[in-house]
Amino acid sequence: HSEESGAQVGTSPADRIDTSVPHPARRYNYWLGGKDNFQADRESGDAIAAAFPTIRLAALENRGFLRRAVAYLTREAGIRQFLDIGTGIPTADNTHEVAQSIAPESRVVYVDNDPIVLAHARALLTSAPEGATAYIDADLRDVDTILGHPDLRRTIDLDQPVALMLVAILHFIHDRDDPYTIVDRLLDALPVGSYLVASHATDDYLPPQVAAAARESANAEGQHGTIILRSRDEFVRFLDRPGLSMIEPGITSVAHWRAEHEPQPRPTAAEAGIYAAVVRKD
Ligand code: SAH
Repeated sequence: HSEESGAQVGTSPADRIDTSVPHPARRYNYWLGGKDNFQADRESGDAIAAAFPTIRLAALENRGFLRRAVAYLTREAGIRQFLDIGTGIPTADNTHEVAQSIAPESRVVYVDNDPIVLAHARALLTSAPEGATAYIDADLRDVDTILGHPDLRRTIDLDQPVALMLVAILHFIHDRDDPYTIVDRLLDALPVGSYLVASHATDDYLPPQVAAAARESANAEGQHGTIILRSRDEFVRFLDRPGLSMIEPGITSVAHWRAEHEPQPRPTAAEAGIYAAVVRKD
């Protein structure tokens, strides 16, 4: 359960933090109004906001989706184990806090590849005594490292249902790294009754020229790093597989997924620009 698990020997997380280039976790933290970000993250965040002015609202709505999905799974689907890959810098309503506020025995394994998230991992390891949390410093693309990690094996039982959380992370995985196979392999390791929770940034609502420019810059791996905006059909490919069934209300905007009790009116799908869905492995 050490927050240094997976770090290179003799290298503290601080030594691995490169503040000169924007990182997704820090930029997202900036949009959410947090303090764990640097000049490069703020410049990138502001440039993206200039092209997509509702990005801060989108980040908040994505976070709201995560909270509602965890609450739904814990309260209504009886899930007690979560594998949250692409955790982000700890903020309000972290997965274990939401789950354990409903079922204190819930167990959560967090995974992220940003050393700044590792440096803050202590805040994620504040489990209720009835439950457990762990933090693994690993890359989503290293599926075997994640699934075979002793801290994962100690914390969750892969013979019991698990909610796999891939919330606002798949759009950082390039097609050449085959995100669809990554998701397949993770789901293959989980038993029937498990769930996948996913959200994904889309260019479906952008003016065509802006969308084309965004795709081009993502392929060129420009100043913002890789952000692979995907269409609804491309998002559906993660979910529409044999043996998976869609949980109501299906694929929606993050702003609209089971959001009846949120302040109304809700932002539009275009303002949020992020698709969401929860599917169950039958
Ligand atoms: N899931 C959280 C945070 C989203 S921000 C939420 O929705 O609120 C995306 C996170 O994914 C960042 O913390 C970033 O560091 C992490 N991330 C991006 N690419 C990753 C990869 N290849 N492996 C592991 N984590 C990754």
